[in-house]
Amino acid sequence: MADQVLGFIGLGQMGSRMAARLLDAGHSVVVYDRAAAVVAELVAKGATAASSSREVADRADLVFASLPTPAILRDVALGPDGVLAGQRARCFVDLSTTGPRIATEVAAGFAEAGRTTFDCPVSGGKTGAAAGTLALMVSGPSAEYEALLPILRVFGKPFFCGEKAGQAQVMKLCNNLLAATALAISSEAIVMGVKAGLDPALMCEVINASSGRNSATQDKFPRAVIPRTFDFGFTTALSLKDVRLCVDEAEAMGVPMVVGSAVRQMLAVTSATFGPDSDFTSLAKTVEQWAGVEIGKS
Ligand code: NAD
Repeated sequence: MADQVLGFIGLGQMGSRMAARLLDAGHSVVVYDRAAAVVAELVAKGATAASSSREVADRADLVFASLPTPAILRDVALGPDGVLAGQRARCFVDLSTTGPRIATEVAAGFAEAGRTTFDCPVSGGKTGAAAGTLALMVSGPSAEYEALLPILRVFGKPFFCGEKAGQAQVMKLCNNLLAATALAISSEAIVMGVKAGLDPALMCEVINASSGRNSATQDKFPRAVIPRTFDFGFTTALSLKDVRLCVDEAEAMGVPMVVGSAVRQMLAVTSATFGPDSDFTSLAKTVEQWAGVEIGKS
């Protein structure tokens, strides 16, 4: 396993940093992204460039992908110029958040060809991707999981969620529903406090020492909302995609999501107002506009 060639497709906020970690750990890595500039950055760090996902799978034994949407992942995995069409790769690991349906479809396609897949969505953002401190949620065949573990540990801490394809994706959707909800409800609370004359930094300090603390008050507000940089590193489009996948999946399972549906709408409004490429911490600006007050300004 040590001398196997690794492939990496999708070199965005997350993928570029994860692929760089594989290179730093001494692996041979073949990369592809449809944006040439990000490929060039990885080649400068020692990667080899391929001209398609299929070519990555022609040259690598094990292929990782970190891609923005379920439709793109399906095309990259199963499409005519995709990983399954490549000759060499025996195993495909999806590090994106794409939901359980695509994971099941991709696993079935690869199984038919006698190949293995793991769904392995991650949490921890671009900071965790760079530092190798991501939480990795993994589902797939346990017999092959052990061999994959040393490479996954380059990215962070793996949690095995089950053998059935898509189980790790459900785990990830549950987590991201909570993260987006924490951002939405914290925006409402902090905008209210600011309108009443409270200092938002003090509010976070008090909340983080109290029972209301959450990932938004501990991380997103101090880092990207109060300084008004809105550059946490996760787009509104991706967060909306995650919460939509979660609420749709819950509905299909007969699980009502009243709060989740409201959060989904708040992200949809944020996307319509500030654009899909805006950072998802812009959700706080949506609440600011409704309330006629700005966090960070007295
Ligand atoms: P991103 O948009 O920064 O990167 C996606 C990359 O995929 C881009 O470089 C793009 O050019 C490339 N791409 C798109 N279509 C392609 C194709 N057909 N072939 C090859 N490359 C293609 O996204 P990101 O923030 O890195 O997120 C990637 C995945 O990880 C998403 O599923 C996201 O939900 C998940 N995720 C992101 C974060 C985060 O904080 N950014 C955290 C956890 C999980």
